[in-house]
Amino acid sequence: MSSSDAHRFDPTILREYDIRGTIGQTLDAPDARAIGRAFAKVLSRSGGKRVAVGYDGRLSSPELELALVDGLMKSGCEVLRIGRGPTPMLYFAVWHLEADAGIMITGSHNPPDQNGFKMMLGRKPFYGEQIQEIGRIAAAGDFVNGEGSERTTPVTEAYLDKLVEAYSGNRPLKVAWDNGNGAAGEVLQALVARLPGEHFLLNETIDGTFPAHHPDPTVAENLEQLQETVRAKGCDIGIAFDGDADRIGVVDGQGRIVWADQLLILLARSVLANHPGATIISDVKASQVLFDAIAAAGGKPLMYKTGHSLIKSKMAETQSPLAGEMSGYIFFDDRWYGFDDALYVAVRTLSILASAEESFAAFRDSLPALVNTPELRFPCPESRKFEVVTEVRDRLAAAGADVDGIDGVRVNTSDGWWLLRASNTQAVLVARCEAKDDTGLGRLKEALASQLSQSGVEVPAF
Ligand SMILES: [Zn+2]
Repeated sequence: MSSSDAHRFDPTILREYDIRGTIGQTLDAPDARAIGRAFAKVLSRSGGKRVAVGYDGRLSSPELELALVDGLMKSGCEVLRIGRGPTPMLYFAVWHLEADAGIMITGSHNPPDQNGFKMMLGRKPFYGEQIQEIGRIAAAGDFVNGEGSERTTPVTEAYLDKLVEAYSGNRPLKVAWDNGNGAAGEVLQALVARLPGEHFLLNETIDGTFPAHHPDPTVAENLEQLQETVRAKGCDIGIAFDGDADRIGVVDGQGRIVWADQLLILLARSVLANHPGATIISDVKASQVLFDAIAAAGGKPLMYKTGHSLIKSKMAETQSPLAGEMSGYIFFDDRWYGFDDALYVAVRTLSILASAEESFAAFRDSLPALVNTPELRFPCPESRKFEVVTEVRDRLAAAGADVDGIDGVRVNTSDGWWLLRASNTQAVLVARCEAKDDTGLGRLKEALASQLSQSGVEVPAF
């Protein structure tokens, strides 16, 4: 241990689920090296030393990867470098190579000048307090010294084999894919070459400047190109990935967006056919339609906290074969490894559609038509955001409202429900409302706005 190696991170980069910053401002190669050294310390405490490392298509990723690998090696780690690819391929590598841990260098769906690190320890997500510990170890310079090794260990072929093996279907489909110039590029091109059907690829080349559009399929405008292609080519479905392909967005054969909580209904019915009575998990932002559909298909619906690491942990605890979030993270622990993998979700979705009697558009039309808001975001100081939620909860409890408090408040009324929760990652309050009709939605929005203003939060028209 040498305190002269001590390293301080910009305090904003150590976040709840990952480490993330702006290149050249809050994050640089020396930070990556210190992350490697501090992570190696945590790993050594658990008795491990084999770490799989991968990186996405951002311009800054190769430099961060080199520095991270150097840091891991200086602390005695055996580094398995899988190279450039999507985040789920790194998760796969941890299983496939029987590594003790994994680190993915990725800025996910964020702007090109940002980058970061998603970590796994054992086969579990590394998050929350564990990430804060990385900061404490680095600040104290409390590192292990050792002579490590590194080896280039591609897993692309093994990963592709597993994905292709997961495909089944009775009729060929026409599919449009929007890779958004993200990290899945090469893997996706190789995958569709091995799947039956006709495939139209958009933005398949990896480009860390994201010239076509922002790689975030949860924002409707980023799906426009995909919607146009689906309509023009008469596709059965359109599939989009975020920048590192751990999140998915889909559109039906008419180019209409099918949100993650709707896609989950299709997937849940299929999974429950083989796992009757299983628990299927989604977050508090998901539509009531999803939870009702899970119950109707013989499953146990479980509404849980938003946050992909939290959902993954809950899945393991309840032995749930399927979980997903509104934000497009979908996890299969049924014939897969339980991690969020948009490529695998795509393969399972195509398999269902290729054997289904009805089209994807007909499936969408069969869902109860509720009216809802998208995710609403109200700026609120970091120091106030949790207090506001507590104040709202207390007022509602005093008024005898029907409130679910698993994550923030989700209030049920005869019109439907509204949600208010504090973001784990930003100085915002997140809300959503869903009702049977527009009049009901109006009443829910009014109730939400009234609660926010009673706690002094500025509420623009929404
Ligand atoms: Zn992502």
